[in-house]
Amino acid sequence: MRWLQSVALASATSRECIDCMSQQIAPPPILQAHALSKVYRSGEVEVHALRGVDLSLRSGELIVLLGASGSGKSTLLNILGGLDTPSAGEVRFHDRQLGDLDDAGLTRYRREHVGFVFQFYNLIPSLTALENVALVTEIARNPMRPEEALGLVGLADRLQHFPAQLSGGEQQRVAIARAIAKRPDLLLCDEPTGALDSPTGVLVLEAIERIHAELGTTTALITHNSVIAQMAHRVLAMRDGTISEEHHNETRRPARELSW
Ligand code: ADP
Ligand code: MG
Repeated sequence: MRWLQSVALASATSRECIDCMSQQIAPPPILQAHALSKVYRSGEVEVHALRGVDLSLRSGELIVLLGASGSGKSTLLNILGGLDTPSAGEVRFHDRQLGDLDDAGLTRYRREHVGFVFQFYNLIPSLTALENVALVTEIARNPMRPEEALGLVGLADRLQHFPAQLSGGEQQRVAIARAIAKRPDLLLCDEPTGALDSPTGVLVLEAIERIHAELGTTTALITHNSVIAQMAHRVLAMRDGTISEEHHNETRRPARELSW
């Protein structure tokens, strides 16, 4: 597992890569997927969720995976994050193949390098915002303080609130603080605003945008909403298990200007 540690050191440069991005210098890829396919089988039925996806994610980049329901977005993100394995193809994180890792290695990859945010916040109801974040920082190697993580998402004044005492958008921001408190290399967000109205969703996107700008965390954001795609450096459109289109945004729209 020593490579995971050297990768952690290498990622210290990710903040500088935000600067490469603004100067149009291509930063190095952090994650590369090649010919990914995924077939789910239940009984006689086969679902081809991914059909030969190639993808390269550069350090410090913010990408949006845009596509209709069922197009394979979550399947792809879960494979990139080591939550699921492909039926064929490979994922390379820096210079290592995820396919070479055993279960313990994949757990370590997720724990040390990947922060996940899902549509539903998955907070523990009996713990405060601070305690929900501390659950993760207690097992991380170089975490920020939970207070700092919650400050970054604008919740410095909600530390002692329980999830039931927070709005949906605030709960999602706690989930984002929990995901980034361990300083992951990758932040993977699956429809983080899917359960929220537009103004509340914008606050959540602003939190993601701020994390990306301040920590330089390479970020992939899933949405079916093309308005949200405007905040990305690059948009990958998914259809029927493939990346059907890709474009770079010449100008990124700040999250606060978005509405839907
Ligand atoms: P999206 O996130 O774009 O809505 P998904 O990646 O969740 O799409 O799903 C892609 C396809 O794979 C869909 O047809 C879905 O029904 C199917 N699928 C996803 N997960 C499973 C699973 N665990 N078992 C069987 N089929 C699945
Ligand atoms: Mg999905």
